Amino acid sequence: MINIVLFGAPGSGKGTQSAKIIDQFGLYHISTGEVLRDHIARGTELGKTAESYISKGNLIPDDLIVDLIAHVIDNEAREAKGVVFDGFPRTIPQAEALRDMLEARGSRVHAVVGLEVPEEELIERMLNRGKETGRADDNLDTIKNRLDVYHNQTHPLKEYYLKEGSYLPINGSGSVEEIFDCIAAGIEEATGEVRRSRK
Ligand code: AMP
Repeated sequence: MINIVLFGAPGSGKGTQSAKIIDQFGLYHISTGEVLRDHIARGTELGKTAESYISKGNLIPDDLIVDLIAHVIDNEAREAKGVVFDGFPRTIPQAEALRDMLEARGSRVHAVVGLEVPEEELIERMLNRGKETGRADDNLDTIKNRLDVYHNQTHPLKEYYLKEGSYLPINGSGSVEEIFDCIAAGIEEATGEVRRSRK
């Protein structure tokens, strides 16, 4: 199993680049944000709980997210060649839980792709996305809190993965294609897999 973590602040382009990674490397995509938004739209119990956190820009409790990921790994992603984790892990306890889950299944995180984008650009991108898609948490107040939450709770993971030797810094400013080229080269080096368009 090939496991790639797509890491970066909100608005750093994780969703856009995930789509290209799954297409070029044939991996299964798990976006915790998308799964949660789907639960909210369907009005499930998890959706009702998640909405109160997401609308304020806060993180959903670790145990709920870890259960959700464990379920996907053992069901939808069971037969997959590998997984792109998009928006997960977002805290050190989530990263430890992911490590344990993968270890128990004889696997590991192969690469953590860290999309690095200046803060002013992140805010501009999220405000534009809010206008284009109507995404409820892409408004200035919530964006500011999401960035604080990112700095306090998620950014420490960079150090965690740097120590593990799996962190791959990527300049996340530029064209989608340029950024993807850097990501794909990094994934190829870390996993030995070759992207489809180069075969
Ligand atoms: P995203 O689509 O990745 O930007 O996530 C949108 C929102 O979903 C976040 O602001 C959090 O409220 C929630 N969320 C997504 N992934 C996680 C996670 N791994 N841990 C906790 N909350 C999450």
